[in-house]
Amino acid sequence: MLRRLYSTILGVPTGKLAKNIADLTTTELLMKAGYVSQPNAGLTHWLPLGLSTIRNIEEIIRKHHDKAGCQEVSLSVMSHQSLWDKTGRWQNDELFKVGDFCLAATAEEEMTQLVQRTADSYKKLPVIAYQIGRKYRNEKRPRGGLLRGREFVMKDAYSFDVDQSSALRSFEKMNQVYYDIFKELNVPFVKANADSGAIGGDLSYEWHFLSESGEDTLLECDACGVVGNVERVRPHITEGHFADEAEVSYHLTRENDLCLIYYPKGRTVNFKFLKDEDLVELRTDISSEEAVQTYKRSGDDEFRNIIRIMDVGVGPGTLLPDLEVAYSRSRMTTFEGVPLTEAQAGDGCALCEAGKLKSFKGIEVGHTFYLGKRYSEPLDAGFVDSEGRRQHYEMGCYGIGVSRLVAAIAEVTRDADGLRWPASVAPIQVDIVVAGSYTGDLGAVEKFCSQLDGLRYRVDATEGHLGEKLARSKRLGTPLQVIIGKQYPKIEIELRGLRRDLGKLESEVQQQNGVDKLVVDVEKGPQIVHKLLSVM
Ligand code: ATP
Ligand code: MG
Repeated sequence: MLRRLYSTILGVPTGKLAKNIADLTTTELLMKAGYVSQPNAGLTHWLPLGLSTIRNIEEIIRKHHDKAGCQEVSLSVMSHQSLWDKTGRWQNDELFKVGDFCLAATAEEEMTQLVQRTADSYKKLPVIAYQIGRKYRNEKRPRGGLLRGREFVMKDAYSFDVDQSSALRSFEKMNQVYYDIFKELNVPFVKANADSGAIGGDLSYEWHFLSESGEDTLLECDACGVVGNVERVRPHITEGHFADEAEVSYHLTRENDLCLIYYPKGRTVNFKFLKDEDLVELRTDISSEEAVQTYKRSGDDEFRNIIRIMDVGVGPGTLLPDLEVAYSRSRMTTFEGVPLTEAQAGDGCALCEAGKLKSFKGIEVGHTFYLGKRYSEPLDAGFVDSEGRRQHYEMGCYGIGVSRLVAAIAEVTRDADGLRWPASVAPIQVDIVVAGSYTGDLGAVEKFCSQLDGLRYRVDATEGHLGEKLARSKRLGTPLQVIIGKQYPKIEIELRGLRRDLGKLESEVQQQNGVDKLVVDVEKGPQIVHKLLSVM
């Protein structure tokens, strides 16, 4: 089936890999092992092995979306400014622009307009449409091309419903689709309450792989088990229990009044929390220092307005820092008890009030948003309801970073010897390695292979040292190596991939020089290979 991989030069590494694989970053490893190539920062060329890997992931994603009744489409990569003006997103510096068009960074605008053309009556709803394709974002700090690319592959889905309760059902359905996809990928994941940032609504989840190298910080409660992105989690403050000391930061409001934010020393203020409170609108274009300077320059500071905002953790008994500016108490407004800071490890959980939070790092691989009418209103997109009235869609959007998944899976599963794919995504699931010591004919090998139907396997009957052939297969991340050698009709199956419970077979696993292997009769071999792959 995958024997053709041998006939291609592209991407199959010929020379030796760097001596110390452990020292390679995962992106370097993917490049050296011939999966991808990186022509420029943030751009990726997919080579045969990488292409096969990403297609396997796409197939799993596609299967679960289709099963849930989602319809696959593929929109043009170019999108006209007029649509983005309506939603106020044209002035986004992540957009790549080509004249009056941008390269699609996401597709709420286009997809909403497309669905509007046909789903114009309540009878035709709900609709969930999705696509898998390339997206373009001018990321300031691309990482390794795959984790944070300027061009990357995304699965994006959009749901359109008649009302909120129906939209929430679509949202729940898509969360189930995500759960099933990540389960099948067979890499540990968490679903975290997410900050919905600039484009989301209030209800949103992020799907993460746990990894030390992740960019996101997650907090999990050790009692109720709820996980949240740190940007979303507020600390639990026991009543009457305030910080010993506070810090202050300086800001200007849109009216150029001075705004002072007091918060417990050492804590992180989250300005999205402040925004949620709707107390003031702060200028985001200047630093704390510039705010002070501008305020001082603007005249007699004693007579200007000052707005003080105190975090919930600041109260009676908290030592406040001296101010760098003169002020008049009569021109001062104070808001107290405002939740402004993020929780951190060791804090109590504000949700269950019983547990403590612990923190870990995650790589975001997916995101589900409930959007409401955020896009359908400005785009004036909707349908006619059962009473003949025109209404706007209730929407949701759902992304998976498909190319990011390739790197993220590689990152969390690799070890010092190379890649280590789960069977579900491995470009090659089994390497059948014929040793020089094998004295039988290749007909027997053919017969063995004929029972591997449905698996992605490859036969390596080339000349060469057995150890090197095995090491190459393992470096590429192939979960199983079957060795046909001098013990034939006994064959050896080496387990490279991570595995779940093998059941009865577990007792037959032997450990030799750090390698887990089974020695089995060739007759039973194919059946055992199928069984092993189903838990790897
Ligand atoms: P991030 O916070 O990592 O920038 P985002 O919130 O901008 O992500 P979405 O717009 O929700 O991401 O995109 C959906 C998914 O696409 C994300 O969950 C992520 O897995 C993936 N993704 C986003 N930006 C990139 C990128 N530059 N390169 C690769 N994958 C990406
Ligand atoms: Mg982003």
